[in-house]
Amino acid sequence: MTYQNFSLNQLQDIDAAHHLHPFTDHKDLRGAGSRMITRADGPFIYDSEGKQILDGMAGLWCVNVGYGRHELAEAAYEQMKELPYYNSFFRCTTPTPVLLSKKLAEVAPAHINQVFYGSSGSEANDTALRLVRHYWALEGKPEKNIIISRHNAYHGSTVAGTSLGGMSAMQSQLGGAVPNIVHVMMPYAFELAEPGESDHDFGIRAAKAIEDAILEAGPENVAAFIGEPIMGAGGVKIPPASYWPEVQRICRKYDVLLMLDEVITGYGRTGAWFAAQSMGIEPDTITTAKALTSGYQPLSALLVGDRIASALVEKGGEFFHGYTYSGHPVACAVALANLEIIEKEGLIERVRDETGPYFNKALKERIEGHPIVGEVRSFGLMGAIEIVKDKESRARFPDEGTAAVAVRDHAIANGMMLRATGDTMILSPPLIWTRETIDLAIERIAKALDLAE
Ligand code: PLP
Repeated sequence: MTYQNFSLNQLQDIDAAHHLHPFTDHKDLRGAGSRMITRADGPFIYDSEGKQILDGMAGLWCVNVGYGRHELAEAAYEQMKELPYYNSFFRCTTPTPVLLSKKLAEVAPAHINQVFYGSSGSEANDTALRLVRHYWALEGKPEKNIIISRHNAYHGSTVAGTSLGGMSAMQSQLGGAVPNIVHVMMPYAFELAEPGESDHDFGIRAAKAIEDAILEAGPENVAAFIGEPIMGAGGVKIPPASYWPEVQRICRKYDVLLMLDEVITGYGRTGAWFAAQSMGIEPDTITTAKALTSGYQPLSALLVGDRIASALVEKGGEFFHGYTYSGHPVACAVALANLEIIEKEGLIERVRDETGPYFNKALKERIEGHPIVGEVRSFGLMGAIEIVKDKESRARFPDEGTAAVAVRDHAIANGMMLRATGDTMILSPPLIWTRETIDLAIERIAKALDLAE
C-alpha cells in the first residue's frame, strides 16, 4: 500500500477517522485537516502538494544532520539484516549499544562514563527520576527524595515526565502527579526581571529560588534539581550567564544532585556536544534523545555521572527498571553513524564559530527592530522571537498566542516552518544550515511578521 494511491483529501479523511495526534485539539483537526509531509531533503520538507518548506524546527528539535542522509538508512539496513533486535537484559547485550556507550563516554563531560538507554526523552527522564531516588536509597538516605524543577519546564509526556515538567495544562489533565516534585520560578528575564534589574542579578535571583525551595523542604529531604539548560518547548528561554554556575554552587552546598535535561540541547545545538560544556557545569545526569540519532530512529540515552554509577556498581542490588527497547541495536547503529557525520562534517564547531553567531546577528539586525517584536534571543542554533503589541511597554496582543500563530501560519504559507508557543516564536534548525539558509529563513520570517502586523 503506497500513499501515492490516495488523494490528499482521502488521506485527511482517513487521518480524521482513525489517527489521534499528540498535543492536538481533535475537534479543530477534524475541521481543517492535517498538512501531509511526504518527503524531505537537506534542510527542506515537502508536503503532499509538492510545496517546499524550509524546516526551522529540525522536525521537532531533532533532525540535526538534515534530511536524506543515506548513510543513516544504510546503517539501519545493515544492522537489521545482521540482527534486527536483541535485548540488553539478563546478562546479554549486542555490539552497537556497547560501542555507542563508549563513544558517548568520550564526548560527554569527563566525569560521565555510563549510559542507560530508552526510546524517548520522556522515558529517559523516567529513568533519571527513578535513578536519583534509587541512588539516595543506596546511600542510606531514602528520605532525600524531593526533586525541584521549574514552572513551564518540559520534561516529557509520560506521567513522570509531566510531573517533573511545569506545564500547568499538562498537569491539570494528569489527575495526580508523582509525589515530591516542587516547582520554582524559571530564569525568564523578558517577563520576570524587575525594572532596572541587571541580567546578572536576575540570574542570581532565579537561582536563589532553588535555594529557597531546598531550605523550605530541608536539604536532608531534597534529592535533586532538574532543568533544561535552555528551556525549549517553554519558549527558548536562555538564562543569564550567572544562572547555571550559581545553580551548581547551590546544589553542591546542600548536596543536591544536578540533573540536566539536554533532550533538545544535546549533540551540538549549543555549539558544544552538550550544553553542560557550553555553560561550564558538571551535572550528575544528562538526559538526551532526539539528535542522538537526528530523529532517524527513536532512541534516548541517560548519561550517568560517576558518583551515581559507582554507587550502583559498588553497592550492587538490582535496579528494577528497563525497557524492551533499551539499547535497541538498530537505533544504536544509526546513532553511531549519526555521531560520525556530526564529527566528520565539523557541525558542532560550525555552530559555535560560524552559524551560531551569524544566526544571532541576523536575528538582532533584521528581526528585532520589527514593530511587533519585543526581543530576539539565541544560543547556538536555538532562537526565540517575542511577539508584542507594543514595543516600548512590551504589552502583548489581547488573546494569548493568536498573533504568534498568525506569524507562524504566514511563515508556513511563505515556505518557512517555525513554531509558536504562547506569544513566542521558536526556532531550532538543523545544524547543516549555512549563512545562505539563515538569510533565506530571516527573509521569510520578516515577511511573515509584516503580514501579521
Ligand atoms: N525533555 C525535553 C527538554 C524535551 O524537549 C522533550 C521533548 O521535546 C522531552 C524531554 C521528551 O522527549 P520525547 O518527546 O522524546 O519523549
